[in-house]
Amino acid sequence: MLEQLTPQDTPAEPKPEQVRADAEADAGLEKELDESRPAIHRKRAPSVDRRKVERCEHRVELGARARTCPRCGQPERRIGSDASRVPEYVPGHFVEHEWRLR
Ligand SMILES: [Zn+2]
Repeated sequence: MLEQLTPQDTPAEPKPEQVRADAEADAGLEKELDESRPAIHRKRAPSVDRRKVERCEHRVELGARARTCPRCGQPERRIGSDASRVPEYVPGHFVEHEWRLR
């Protein structure tokens, strides 16, 4: 025997204002997550010709623990160097786009 659907049984169609509110909440959450990440990790770095790129060098000092041998406690001797490079796009100029009716 088939049960007759009552209005309470039919899945409620979400109201347009609820859909909009949900979309806005999602967008807000996305933005918050995005802003919580370091700026350089937000977007995939563009490929660049490194020879033409301005360089900005950062010297990083290792902490005392990293400079000390964990086995004997003696200061570690530097035997090499390591560098990581991350391109950052720095906008050079603005372009204003204006649309007008002819
Ligand atoms: Zn040692």
